[in-house]
Amino acid sequence: MKTLRRCAGILGWAVSLLWVSVSGGEELVSGCYRFIYDPMEFSQWEVEEFSREAEERCEKLKLFLHVATKEPIDVYVRSGQGVSTTVPHKNKAMDLFFLKPIRGVEAPIVHETAHIFLDSPNPVLREGLATAMEERFGTLWTHPTYGLSLVEWMKGLQCAEKIVGLAQLEKTDWREGAWEANPIAYVLSGSFVAFLLERYGPEEVGKALKWTQRFRPTNLERVCEVRFNRSLKDLEREWLETMKSEPMNPSARELCQALKAGKVREFLQKRLAAR
Ligand SMILES: [Zn+2]
Repeated sequence: MKTLRRCAGILGWAVSLLWVSVSGGEELVSGCYRFIYDPMEFSQWEVEEFSREAEERCEKLKLFLHVATKEPIDVYVRSGQGVSTTVPHKNKAMDLFFLKPIRGVEAPIVHETAHIFLDSPNPVLREGLATAMEERFGTLWTHPTYGLSLVEWMKGLQCAEKIVGLAQLEKTDWREGAWEANPIAYVLSGSFVAFLLERYGPEEVGKALKWTQRFRPTNLERVCEVRFNRSLKDLEREWLETMKSEPMNPSARELCQALKAGKVREFLQKRLAAR
């Protein structure tokens, strides 16, 4: 086993990195993460560069969600196409795809880290928080936003009359239906949770997610009544009104046209290719 220490001080990031060769791969330990990768697929400098960025993002996320972690999170860096996930690791570690920009798409490490820090059995709260955190501290150039902000998505969805009710969304299988049904479910949830964070702050939203881990049923109607003292209908209406008052821009207008024409995938692919 070979161990070597490196110090990187770029942009104030000066955490010592621990490189370890292990059977079947290499490991890079930074503060938040332990990156485990195959050196035949990823070069050391690629992982090191990515770890710097990831470390900064993780620190911001920890501060925002008031999370203190001791152990680094295991990140299995995989090449190939696919949405990253914490599910095979029971939400304690992650399989991270798209380490480097591949056809313009980046790895959603903030999204997956948010799941590990603060989870919920409710899909709208779980994926909504992760999507809102990826927008705030990570990158838009990943699933599900693919380069557009949550507000731009919402403007496009409102313009194309493709808004799905949250009570319906929490009962739907997001893998079903047309390709765009999946990113739409994520961005609606992300935008709603971003609205809750704006209105109630991360502490109250964090308590609401923790509450859903302990009490059932965890439907949004109940969560809103118990944790925010409001009906889901009222909060949902206010959120959508807030979105309506946001200005329309050319990207949202183009998305609206693509949604109406059923060509969202092609529209996003074109934007990613042009990066
Ligand atoms: Zn997720």
